Amino acid sequence: MKIQSIRGMNDLLPQQSALWQYLERAVADMLDRYGYREIRFPILEQTELFKRAVGEVTDIVEKEMYCFDDRNGDSLSLRPEGTAGCVRACSENGLLHNQSQRLWYSGPMFRYERPQKGRLRQFHQIGVEAFGLNGPDIDAELLLMTARLWQQLHIDHAVTLQINSLGTAADRATYRAALVEFLEARYEQLDKDSQQRLTSNPMRILDSKDAQTQALLNDAPSLSDFIDQPSRDHFAQLCAVLDAAGVSYEINPRLVRGLDYYSKTVFEWVTTSLGAQGTVCAGGRYDGLVEQLGGKPCAGVGFAMGVERLVLLLDELGVVPDSIGQPVDLYLLAVGEVEQQALLLAENLRNECPQIRLQTHCGGGSFKSQIKKADKSGATVALILGEDEAASNSIGVKYLRENLDQQTVAQVDLVELLNNTFK
Ligand code: ATP
Ligand code: MG
Repeated sequence: MKIQSIRGMNDLLPQQSALWQYLERAVADMLDRYGYREIRFPILEQTELFKRAVGEVTDIVEKEMYCFDDRNGDSLSLRPEGTAGCVRACSENGLLHNQSQRLWYSGPMFRYERPQKGRLRQFHQIGVEAFGLNGPDIDAELLLMTARLWQQLHIDHAVTLQINSLGTAADRATYRAALVEFLEARYEQLDKDSQQRLTSNPMRILDSKDAQTQALLNDAPSLSDFIDQPSRDHFAQLCAVLDAAGVSYEINPRLVRGLDYYSKTVFEWVTTSLGAQGTVCAGGRYDGLVEQLGGKPCAGVGFAMGVERLVLLLDELGVVPDSIGQPVDLYLLAVGEVEQQALLLAENLRNECPQIRLQTHCGGGSFKSQIKKADKSGATVALILGEDEAASNSIGVKYLRENLDQQTVAQVDLVELLNNTFK
């Protein structure tokens, strides 16, 4: 039996990697333009970190983490999200003391979920975190930046922004009690999942997909009536910036997000073009998290986008530029005992014409089989080095996509010819 990949953990094949690189570069460039810098931290952390950051009674920690004891008996987990590790790394390296930080990271995350379209067990996020900034201005900046990114990627018509305010942790505790009281009185009408959540994580009932539960919630107390004045002001100022900048949004009072650590602003960018897994980017403010993880109090706000879902969306909408994943320009054939000369000639061309993308034929074979490979490579020009050419320091130039005669030129004239052809 052949060994197979792990369910929900995909290989990224060369055919698709160009699209991933296009997306990743667009995001990295945008972040760079706004003054965000990259941070990298490990994929493995102590399990305790995620328990404390994400929360013990969340779906992620209860059901979805890849946990194991290492050879030393320490409990480690593959990261299910990036914020916890990012905060840990910043705190440990003294980045959060009397300063602000604008950071981003990217890489794989791991959750033991039921694999389906847009939902994997190893998936990829690009995450952004800003630390030490309390005001709604930074929340707004993050949303303006993502809005600009969607525009640049030509997907802005297909995503909408939902926002909400969760108030403070104390506000949420008061609200939670009111919600539980309301729902306990209607326990029998709740779906099974929600009945269970009523004791573990009642706020999650708000984003239940069950229609009857949703109908029941229409009369439930609303979180917006429970949040304190500073949170209200913060939210109003955020909305005012979005209005002034012309970024449309929808206030969704039932948007609570799955993780424990949020406070005040939460948001999601959602599309209807991907079926059930429609959230492509999600985040919010987490002012209590740094302290919760043992650091001095430090404000934080951030988001993570799902790379697989964005790639699916780019594909679905057909907005992938033709220029990505371009084939090489030149394919150099080496026919006969000329492998060494071919390799050296190619190196010289790479010195003299750095703008040209050149692939050298390796592995020998007849002229016929090599020219077939040249054609398949997508190159526009084939350079042919045979034994005769090598002996006379010349080279054959064959245009693969144009109806032009093959010519033989002196190798000393080749650079000029190529520089004229590939500007
Ligand atoms: P979902 O609503 O899909 O369960 P989530 O609230 O669990 O998402 P977050 O923890 O906020 O997601 O992660 C941010 C983003 O990462 C999501 O909006 C989504 O785009 C992506 N994401 C999360 N889980 C997965 C997964 N299992 N597979 C692929 N992408 C994912
Ligand atoms: Mg989830």
